Formats: sequence, C-alpha cells, structure tokens
Amino acid sequence: MGFVFTIEEKCRGCYACVRSCPAKAIKVKEGIAGVMDERCVTCGYCIDICAAGARQTRSEIDLVWQLLGQPSPVIALLSSSFPAAFPEIRLKQMVSALKKLRFSEVMEAAFGAELVCREYGRFVAENTAKPVLSSTCPAMVSFIEKFYPQLIDYLAPIVSPAVAMGRVVKWQYNPEAKVVFIGPCIAKKAESSDEKVGGVIDAVLTFPELSEMLAMKGIDPALEEDGEVSGPRPSLGRLWPVPGGLLKIAGISADILSSDVVVAEGIDRAIGCLREFVEGKARTKFLDIFFCRGCIDGPAIGNDLSLFERRRLIVDYALEETDAARTQSDIEKYAGIDLSREFTDRHTVLPIPDEKEIGRILSQINKLRDDDQLNCGACGYRSCRELAVAVCQGLAENEMCWPYLVDRLQGTQDELIRIEKMTSLGQMAASIAHEINNPLAGVLVYTKLLAKKLAGDTLKKEEALGHLSKMESEVSRCSRIIRHLLDFARQTEPMLRLLDINQVLEQVLSMVGHQAQLQNIEVVKEFRPSLPKVMADFDQLQQVFTNLMLNAIQAMPERGKLTLRTSAEDNKVKVEVRDTGCGIPREHLHKLGTPFFTTKERGKGVGLGVAVVYGIVERHKGEVTVQSEVGKGTTFTVCLGVHNDEEG
Ligand code: ADP
Repeated sequence: MGFVFTIEEKCRGCYACVRSCPAKAIKVKEGIAGVMDERCVTCGYCIDICAAGARQTRSEIDLVWQLLGQPSPVIALLSSSFPAAFPEIRLKQMVSALKKLRFSEVMEAAFGAELVCREYGRFVAENTAKPVLSSTCPAMVSFIEKFYPQLIDYLAPIVSPAVAMGRVVKWQYNPEAKVVFIGPCIAKKAESSDEKVGGVIDAVLTFPELSEMLAMKGIDPALEEDGEVSGPRPSLGRLWPVPGGLLKIAGISADILSSDVVVAEGIDRAIGCLREFVEGKARTKFLDIFFCRGCIDGPAIGNDLSLFERRRLIVDYALEETDAARTQSDIEKYAGIDLSREFTDRHTVLPIPDEKEIGRILSQINKLRDDDQLNCGACGYRSCRELAVAVCQGLAENEMCWPYLVDRLQGTQDELIRIEKMTSLGQMAASIAHEINNPLAGVLVYTKLLAKKLAGDTLKKEEALGHLSKMESEVSRCSRIIRHLLDFARQTEPMLRLLDINQVLEQVLSMVGHQAQLQNIEVVKEFRPSLPKVMADFDQLQQVFTNLMLNAIQAMPERGKLTLRTSAEDNKVKVEVRDTGCGIPREHLHKLGTPFFTTKERGKGVGLGVAVVYGIVERHKGEVTVQSEVGKGTTFTVCLGVHNDEEG
C-alpha cells in the first residue's frame, strides 16, 4: 500500500479527486477511485478534497507507539509550522505534552532550515551556469522525478530541513536516538523512506495524528507547564514555512525588478513554471518552487485558519525568544554535516492512444460530434476528449460520463417498464384466457350434446334441464369473472360522500354474517364510537370490506374468530379485519394484489379480490397493509384519511 490510499466502501464516485490530482494518479475501476502509487506524489490534494473521507494517508501512529515503547531515546522534530497548527499552544507547552507521550527530547526542525538555507545561498551563488530549482518540497521533488525527469539536473542537490535535522541528530547529536518528524506535510512520509535521503527519520506524524495520540492519552497541551526545547536553536529559520522564507533566511534577494529569483507556490503556478522551464521560456536563475502555498498551507495542518492568520502566527513565533548569536554558534557546531543528496528518475509513461481508439471511445459515450461534447467536467477530466484518452489508458471508465450514464439509465428504465408492462399484460391475458376458456369449453360441449340429442330425438326433459343448468352455472362463472375484472379495471373516480366506516362495516356484516355463522365463526366488533368520518364511495368501500371479510371467512373453514376493529389516529381512520385462519405464507405475501393470484381450488377463487381492494383504496388515497402468520391468522389493515371539514 502507498502513502495515500482509498477506503473503497466510502468512495462515492464523485470524481472530485480525479479533478484535483495534478499527477493523474487516480484510476477509476468499477466506479471506485483508487490511487496509482507509481504516479502519486503524496501532495494530499485528493485527501483534502474528498468530502466522503474515502481518501486517507497511511498513519504511522502505531509505528511511533512502537518506537516510544522501546529503550532507545526518541526525539521529536517539531516543524516550524507548528504555531499555525496549534495557535493556542506555546512551543514549550507542546514540549511537555510530547514528553508525556514518552518522547525523550523535542527539537525545532527549523534549525535544519538554518543549515539548508545557508547551503542554498552558497549553491545559488556558485552555480550560475544554469538555473537552479529548489528541492525542499518533497511533493514537488517527487513530481519532477516522476513527470519532468529532464529537470532533475536543475534540482538543487540539497536535502530538506527535516532531513538535515535528521542528519544532525543521527550523525552527530545522538546516533542512538530514533527520530520522529511532526508536521503538516504528507509527502514527508514518502520522503523519509526515499533511499536517497532515507535512514535519518524513523517515522513521520502529521499534526492531526499528533492530536490523535495526545487525545488517546488524555493529554491537553494547553494545560501543560512549560518544558525545555533541546538541541540547536533556530532564529529566522522559523520563517521557513512561509512562502519566500527560504530566500529571507538564505539572504537571497528577490528583487521585483529582476526575474532572477522567482517563488512559485501553489499547484497551478508551480506546474505552469515547470512547463515554462521545460520550454526554455524561463529566464530565472533560482526558482523556489513548492506544491502548497508554503508549508503553512500543508494538507495536514489540521485547522481552517486563513493563510494570513497562519503567516502572522509564524512571524510572531520567529520573532519570539530567538538568540541569533546562539544560532550562529550552533550552525558552526553542525557545519560539517553533509547536506547533499541525489535524485531518482522515476518517470512513468502512459500509453498514448491513437485517434482511432479515441474516436471509438467518444462514439461509445455518444460524443463523436463536436456539439455533443459538453466538456462539462463532471467526470473529473476537463474535456470529453481527455476522458476518452484516459479510458484508452485504463485510468477511467465510460460510466464516468454523467450525460452518457443518464442516457443509459433512462434507456434501461424504459426497457424495464416496457418488459414489466408486457409481462403483466401477457400474464393477465393468459390468466383471463384460461379462466374464461374452461367454462366456455364446458358450455360448448353441452351445446353440442344438446344439439346431437335433439337431432336424434333422444333428448329427455330431465337430461336437458341438467345440461342447461350446468351451462347456466358455467356462464354465470364467466359473468362473475368479467364482473370482477371490470371492478378491478374500474378507472372511474369514486363518488365521494361523508361516510361513517362503522356503518359500512355493519352493512357488509349483514350480508356476509350468515356465512360466518355457518362456519361457527365468532364475529367480534371493536368499533370506536363516534369514528371520524371519511370522504369515500360507499359502494366501493363496501366492496373492499366484503372482499376482505369473505377471504377471512374462507381462511377459517372450521370455526375461528373474525375481529373487526376501527380506530382513529394521526388524522387517519384505521380498519382492521383480523382472522384466526390459515395465514398467508411469506412467499405469497408479495403476490397479494397481483390479478388472478389465488391459492383456492377451482371454482372457489378467481384471484381478483385483493387486487380490487388495493385498487379502490389507492383511488381513495389510502393504504392497505397485511400482517400474517401461517397457522395463526391474518390481519388486513385499511387506512383512510379523515375528512376534517364536515361542512365542506
Ligand atoms: P381469491 O379469494 O379469489 O383467491 P383474492 O385476491 O381475494 O382472490 O385472494 C388471493 C389469495 O390471497 C387467496 O387465494 C389466498 O391465498 C390469499 N388470501 C387473501 N386473504 C387471505 C386471508 N385472510 N387468509 C389467508 N389467505 C388469504
């Protein structure tokens, strides 16, 4: 795993990271944006921009706990941007807090800046033959190594202040000690393991990681007494994290009238300057270049203060309690430390697709014509063409194009609706054909039989009456099916009037009650007196409760209890029809309301009763719910809105 990675479950596929990544190091696969370690420069932009918190940096907290638990002393190198990250806390308080975490000593990394800046002053003065690029920002060094290897020769071969301090400690101050750098920069994690400068910093903590460790131990630095800072002391070196800090400390003049020295901070300006450099347009002798707007803008600074506020805090800190004479003597003490470094060509090349391939992708995402290319940027690429190139390179997917995705979804949805319509229409047609065909076939048989017997003069009166009676019963069955179908398909608006549902139920009971009696079913009425009225169609509601009660009665062939309960709450009238019958198996519940779904034997069930109930209640803007347990019984609940204005 690299230093920056994606928590896949959190990635929402918004492509904000694709948009923000200056290194095109984000690869989208199956909608998840992952980081390509070989291209990532650990600038941290994608971490900052990810609102879902899906992008994170590899935490070294566990490693630091491990170091602190071992016998060797562990020295904390505190970045000089610390006052901008913890404005309420004095340096000396932080020293005490860090010592409570078991750090043996705390040093100011800014002394490294004192050493490094002097080296820059010397190097820039001595190397006038070709321009010099600063190499202090680890993200920028990584960017040049990976994407502008032709500029490696221009990079000042000087270590960063943090590495310089690491060398001070490991090579002279206390070679036994472990060194932990604490700062606002994620790229420092990668720098500490770069083989060209590695071995002197054992772990890197970001400021938020430090806060996490303090919180874990319940330490509030603001409540700490002052502790003693160790090691060599910086003075102006504390200005390092402010843009232009290097020039000020090194005493390099950036005269506005001269373009010899340029400070390029912030990603756009920095990359723009690199391009000019490559194109030979830059006339600069020294380009101080970094990804952020100074280390005070580092991605892991951990607060929302403005850059102006942070700058003020750093300047105050630089002016406080400094001792230039002591700094000078410390510089002399550590003057022998080698500050040089080398760089590695880590150039990565993506395949460049030809026009045919790009055209194929553009055509797949319906962007072949110029006026179809909206270049909306929703995919994270600046243009449809850039997206197509990225797809060819394996970095992106067609589905990242939102207009294309919306078109596709619309198409799929239309297709699904069409299939569903066709399926239910087909099912319905088949069921109707089946239901009607059987009785009609019976009628046809008896018609032919009657005709044959009449023609042969062999028809007896009783026999004829018997056949006619069977024909009548089959024709009535057809007619019943048609009537139910008409009920089901009835699209007419209900004839609304104010109704007392208790009265509707009484009316239905008077019709179906005798059937219940025949089956030894006890009917329990739990009617709420003075039930609020509802605006409804009497006939249709009567139909609803007839169907529900008949189903309940049929579910209890040999005795049981039918409870009819009415109540009112939340401006709704609720009617429960509860039986203690056979219940409905779970796998049948979702089929309720599907026309012609029946489990009853032929002649007893048509499978339209519940569908009619759903249809009518829906037209009354009400709701039907079912609860059922096999062997225990079923409750159908119908909710209808109360009519509030009885006068109206
Ligand atoms: P039908 O009564 O003609 O079968 P319905 O649409 O009224 O058609 O009911 C469909 C199916 O739902 C019934 O066949 C039965 O399986 C089930 N059902 C409906 N109400 C109940 C109930 N109260 N208890 C058990 N099963 C029920």
